[in-house]
Amino acid sequence: MPIKVITFDLDNTLWDVEPALIRAEEAQRAWLLEHRPGTMEQYDHARLWEFKKRVWQRHPELLHNVSAMREQMLLELQLAAGYAEKEARVGAEQAFAVFLQQRHQVELYEEALEILEALSRDFTLGALTNGNADIFKTDAGEYFDFAFLAEDVGASKPAPDMFHAAMASSGATATNIIHVGDNPEHDIQGARAVGMYTVWVNTLGQKWPGGERAHREVISLKDLPAAIDSIATEAPGERS
Ligand SMILES: [Mg+2]
Repeated sequence: MPIKVITFDLDNTLWDVEPALIRAEEAQRAWLLEHRPGTMEQYDHARLWEFKKRVWQRHPELLHNVSAMREQMLLELQLAAGYAEKEARVGAEQAFAVFLQQRHQVELYEEALEILEALSRDFTLGALTNGNADIFKTDAGEYFDFAFLAEDVGASKPAPDMFHAAMASSGATATNIIHVGDNPEHDIQGARAVGMYTVWVNTLGQKWPGGERAHREVISLKDLPAAIDSIATEAPGERS
């Protein structure tokens, strides 16, 4: 088979990330209100966003590490409220743990498990995410052979690093791999640039923003097996 590996983006490809993010932000806020009074009270959504953006500007080295960036923001929020460095570091760690616990409570798209289970019988499956979700902490974990996070690899998609990590991990070349994702730039352009096949998961029915299109497009994961089949049929190489 020319196609041996399917790699998946996670957020908004296998699940809608929004509900988990909202719950995670709420849990983090609740922790700070209880354990670090004075830190969060003055921030509404917009003001917190401004604070966050200033932390990003001061720490460009953390741009590919969403977890470290969040901990840095949590630390600075407490320092700004007058907490001592040591206490603030402990608080950042604990508030982040509370955030991450909720962040991992994702609800896979209805059809995802069945499809991943079927694909895992024929292909090696991998996860490539710019976020901090852990596929092995979800119900789909058992179907995956490997997973890379941008924060571990040191670069976010569309940089080639995570795609290269997938090749190294699976022993497959780019033309043996189909990458499946929702983000035109990070997933589709990124994977195309290293020579992989691509499927754009467009559950929101968005307009293609321009640039080279994915090899296939689906509006639901239900259509993914057929899209993968049709790529596998036309992909050059020995059929088994
Ligand atoms: Mg995504």
